[in-house]
Amino acid sequence: MKLVVVGGVAGGASVAARARRLDESAEIIVLERGHHVSFANCGLPYHIGEVITERERLVLQTTQSLRESLNIDVRIASEVTAIDRHAQTVTVREVDTGREYVESYDNLALCTGADAIRPPLPGVDLPELHVLRRIGDMDVIKAELDSALALAAGGSRGPVRCVVIGAGYIGLEMAENFEHRGAIVDVVEMSDQILPPLDHEMSVPVEHHLRSRGVSLHLSTGAAAFTRRDGGGITVELTNSTSLAADIVILSVGVRPNVDLARAAGLELGAHGGLNVDTHMRTSDAHIWAAGDSVETPNTVLPGSWLSPLAGPANREARVAAENICGRETEYKSTQGTSIVKVFEMVAGGTGATERQLLAAGLAYRAVHVHPSGHAGYYPGTAMMHIKLLFEPTSGAVLGAQVTGFDGVDKRLDVFATALRAGLTVWDLEELELAYAPPFGSAKDPVNMAGFVASNVLLGDLNLWYAQDYPKATDGARIIDVRTSEEFSIWHLPGAENVPLATMRTDTAGWNKAAGLRLYCSVGFRSYLSYRILIQLGFTDVATLSGGSETFRAWHEVEPLAVGPEEPETPYADAAETLNSARVAAHVANGTGVSVNLDCTGLACPGPIMKLSTEMKGLTPGDEIVVHVSDPGFASDAPAWVRRNGHELLSIEPEGPGYVATIRKVGPEALALAGAASSGTVAASVTPKVSFVVFSGDLDKLIAAFIIANGAISMGEEVSMFFTFWGLNALRKAKPPKRQRKTMDKLFAGMMPAGADKLTLSQMHMMGAGTAMIKKTMKKNGVHSLPELMQSAVDGGARVIGCTMTMDLLGIAESDLIDGVELGGVATFLGEAAESTTTLFI
Ligand code: FAD
Repeated sequence: MKLVVVGGVAGGASVAARARRLDESAEIIVLERGHHVSFANCGLPYHIGEVITERERLVLQTTQSLRESLNIDVRIASEVTAIDRHAQTVTVREVDTGREYVESYDNLALCTGADAIRPPLPGVDLPELHVLRRIGDMDVIKAELDSALALAAGGSRGPVRCVVIGAGYIGLEMAENFEHRGAIVDVVEMSDQILPPLDHEMSVPVEHHLRSRGVSLHLSTGAAAFTRRDGGGITVELTNSTSLAADIVILSVGVRPNVDLARAAGLELGAHGGLNVDTHMRTSDAHIWAAGDSVETPNTVLPGSWLSPLAGPANREARVAAENICGRETEYKSTQGTSIVKVFEMVAGGTGATERQLLAAGLAYRAVHVHPSGHAGYYPGTAMMHIKLLFEPTSGAVLGAQVTGFDGVDKRLDVFATALRAGLTVWDLEELELAYAPPFGSAKDPVNMAGFVASNVLLGDLNLWYAQDYPKATDGARIIDVRTSEEFSIWHLPGAENVPLATMRTDTAGWNKAAGLRLYCSVGFRSYLSYRILIQLGFTDVATLSGGSETFRAWHEVEPLAVGPEEPETPYADAAETLNSARVAAHVANGTGVSVNLDCTGLACPGPIMKLSTEMKGLTPGDEIVVHVSDPGFASDAPAWVRRNGHELLSIEPEGPGYVATIRKVGPEALALAGAASSGTVAASVTPKVSFVVFSGDLDKLIAAFIIANGAISMGEEVSMFFTFWGLNALRKAKPPKRQRKTMDKLFAGMMPAGADKLTLSQMHMMGAGTAMIKKTMKKNGVHSLPELMQSAVDGGARVIGCTMTMDLLGIAESDLIDGVELGGVATFLGEAAESTTTLFI
């Protein structure tokens, strides 16, 4: 058998190698028009970026190594110019010499790949414009970049500017690698989002990350023309009438299948312009086979055949083609388009159909969004991951999944890809037993989590509304933000009411049960808990926002609320003049030189803000905190918090998955201190104060109380908490020192929970199972336990007051209470309440 393969890279080299392994006697010839075979085109951007420093490592095989190891006759610089199907021959032209000859075949494999599209725009042929497909393209781009950077480093020219047209995988890889080399990078994309294989909301976190790394994104605009500039370089004119200066331009606007040979030979083409093949990778000619970027294959989810220019499918198709050429009946079933890309520290990818494609195909589907962390939040180096799972509404079959994030994205994507290929359902995702230890995941893996949420939807345990349907989805309904008051104060949906989860049951008492309620929280978990509460309380029209505000903010550009500090924001120079305090002026303006490092990585909102607030309290004016955070939302939360508290944000820079910010202490306290230190004429602090009457001994209510208390403290407010009746139990020691007690006191002590750890839920206690569950969930989600919340409030300066009257009634002594509790009566409480701006009864 004589096999002739046209094209010698991914598909071609694989067909030839597999055929040799199956048929030692076959004559195998590979004809490749370029000067390299079997090179790693996926690695090309990284050599330009000097991440892969040795060029040779991209050349996986040579003509010689293929001859020696596989006895394949590889002829480079040999272009096939025609196929004579009747005679079963191809015409070959030697590119370097122009010599032509004819080669016969028994079987012909066409692995001619795809060509980069060069849009027909004015100036598109200028030499500064490049596509990146082959090693030769890479060499030219790298040489130009190297020389421009060398001149810039020598001071004989300004910075090097690169413009990338097209924000698909290759475009973004080029943007990253150019930036990595020190160039200024602009990316231009005609669509309103980057990365077409993702749905809009999934691409937005990657856009933020790109921008945070200094890449300028120009969305919803395209290149209109390219013109030479006087003095070198070119101008890229955009359709939105702006223009960009460029030394190098990369055109990465897509590829089109290279089917010229096949078309000329009369082979059948498909609807998308690729070669038609059957499941054996046979074309419309029984002796001609094809594989790779030039063919159309059935899609795993969508109807019809599609182009899928990816290396994995190319290699698998080639293997199937070779097996059939060698007499085996292997089938290539479908392509699901699993793909992934690294964009600086971020990773993004998808498998199966996107929501856009399902809609276009008219297929029924449901979607859920979850935002778990890549691995256990308490183990360093993780950040929020974004998952969108699409599934069939009746069977629950997985139709597609998209994942973006920092750590562990590839693993989750591959699990979803495997699930899709195996025909698994969301019920199966719930059951998958995946590898877990803190550095790698969570006991409930993000894939399980997506399965849980999707199954809840199918079971009717959860009713979702979607950010892309806003504001229509909230028409005529009350929008309920179930996050803490602190989170609410930083950002919330227009018109939303704040009903924190912790007070949901009491706050909604008396509400019309038929009223439409559209809930949301930050990622969808607390709103799910609220949903369950409300439905069981008899509310009939409740829905919760899929993916919470995290997903909402990807659809709707929203800024943190423009809430300033309680007092108008005062630049320090002005404040110092008013207060006549040279000392604090110098401290705050120049800094004290004291800098504290604060590690908040792995903490989810509002953890970093709470920790920051506590740390800030211990500092003096002019001291600085360098805070490291992995939560990307910190970029918008931090300026709002800093503004509100009157501090100064000196810098905020991307760091790993999140940010590092330097904040200098100014704040109302500093200003008050300045006044006291100077003239003594400054009015007393106007710090707002919240006082609580904590009457309840229910775990959930206590958690709510302390979350609010900590929130208030972190917003710079004073907090005073008066514990009476059952609330006092939260302050009891688990093991108080022994003392003489009356019989009745002993009885009471035995019946009541001894301390915060022993409190139970007001509802859904379920003989301890519900309480244990909520504690576990809090831990998993990085929410502090009640004892931790209490400690944090006390450390933050909250006054915790035990009601002496109740202590007498219940036979509780001061020694039974945890350290730091002050004792007081009604007068103490009333005094606190009188000074407070807000008083809450829990
Ligand atoms: P190719 O590998 O392009 O090979 C086709 C060969 O046929 C070419 O060498 C061409 O010269 C030759 N040829 C064409 N016509 C003739 C003719 N008439 N006579 C002789 N020879 C001919 N995919 C991924 O899955 N992941 C990635 O990360 C990824 N990164 C990429 C990065 C870059 C920069 C590029 C360019 C591609 C990337 N791809 C990636 C895509 C992947 O490389 C392709 O899907 C894969 O190489 C397709 O294999 P193929 O054999 O069909 O085509």
